Amino acid sequence: MDNHSDSDVSSQRRVHSSSVSSLDTQSTEIDDSCEDLQGSDREYILVVGGLGYIGSHTCLELLKSGYNIVIIDNLSNSFRSVYTRLENLGRNYFDTRCEPMPQIHLYVSDYRDEAAMKQILGEYVRPHTSPQLLEGEARLESRIRGVIHFGAYKSVSESIQQPLKYYANNVAGLVEFCSILNSFQIKTFVFSSSATVYGSIANSGMPLREEHCTHQEEAFSDHEGVTKTVLGGCTGLTNPYGRTKWMCEAILSDLALADPEWTVLALRYFNPVGCDESGLLGEDPRGVPTNLMPVVLRVLTGISPVLDVFGTDYPTADGTAVRDFIHVTDLARGHIAALAAAFDGRVPKGFRTYNLGSGKGHSVLDVVNAVESASSSKIPLRILGRREGDVGSCVAMPKRAETELDWKTEKSLETCCRDVCNFLDNFKRPAMPVV
Ligand code: NAD
Repeated sequence: MDNHSDSDVSSQRRVHSSSVSSLDTQSTEIDDSCEDLQGSDREYILVVGGLGYIGSHTCLELLKSGYNIVIIDNLSNSFRSVYTRLENLGRNYFDTRCEPMPQIHLYVSDYRDEAAMKQILGEYVRPHTSPQLLEGEARLESRIRGVIHFGAYKSVSESIQQPLKYYANNVAGLVEFCSILNSFQIKTFVFSSSATVYGSIANSGMPLREEHCTHQEEAFSDHEGVTKTVLGGCTGLTNPYGRTKWMCEAILSDLALADPEWTVLALRYFNPVGCDESGLLGEDPRGVPTNLMPVVLRVLTGISPVLDVFGTDYPTADGTAVRDFIHVTDLARGHIAALAAAFDGRVPKGFRTYNLGSGKGHSVLDVVNAVESASSSKIPLRILGRREGDVGSCVAMPKRAETELDWKTEKSLETCCRDVCNFLDNFKRPAMPVV
């Protein structure tokens, strides 16, 4: 099956090409259905990068939770066909329940294209619902209730070779985008951050707590109940990608400090793996993947001959690096939990970070074994030395998300592997010998 076809957009709203972007996308395409957005009372969640790996799974969970969504994606690392699959999955879900599906709108555009962003956001304004407006208060309000921002480049190795590309998209893009959101009074923001912000603190081998990396001075009690004060800053970030995530957090923290109307939740993902149980959404980047699971899949499908294992002399049970793998559907649901907590006022206004991880570590060899048993295939390994910048163990302390967002992981590593094999059966031809 060709899962990369660009000709299969059959959205409920038509998509047409409207203007040429000056940035690195070919064109900006604006959804132009006949729905009268100005006259409608519907509210939406804006998802930037919503066709990517984590974004697409989050969009599906948003739909299932009843949210109308607006996706902005420039397809720099995703395919338009993901939209069709997303829409079909949503429709099947609601058809079986005999319920109407929430709205889903797609704009193929670069989020750094200021004119396009203003045009898109301009379509989602309505007269202010508050009858008593204060002097000088805006007469229009946005029907975008909140934003989830996935749009970024994410390859560590590429970021080392092309740092400016990363700072331009991930950092400069965010600054401009937040200014535009500000002007539309859209101030609930969920940001895709990463455990990479913990830098060399991860080397301690201790479960990582949010207080290990803060942006303002913060007091907390440690595991022995001793009150400690941390100063803002980071330690030992090893690459530009990691620095972009830390910088974005710092910028958002400053923004929320300056304007208390902003609620910013920075979700620090640990290692997302797996895919939707249907096997119809998955991790399918345009470029060569660097994350463990898609690399394993390349070996399973015969694209790569062996799986390189970097380091077998770490102080872990089997010597290979240990990570906190989290099923992408659990991760996606973490975003729904974060939005719900923000909308219900269960999290304080301002900037707050949350670890999204399981709290359990699995080694590279655990993953290999789990994939081998889910796929009934053997994965040839090539043992190499440690890779520069890697840490031996990186596991979350997910208590804050559990307590404040009422969220925790539910799915096991075995489930991740089973679901990935479904995706593989749907879209790729396995080429490995059966064990
Ligand atoms: P992805 O590359 O699959 O998805 C990102 C999406 O954003 C893609 O669809 C891409 O086309 C789009 N995009 C990029 N730049 C854009 C721009 N300027 N305008 C519009 N769209 C743009 O990546 P992912 O794995 O889904 O990651 C999503 C977010 O989570 C990223 O911010 C990433 O840094 C962060 N994150 C990912 C992981 C991981 O292991 N996958 C771990 C920690 C954090």
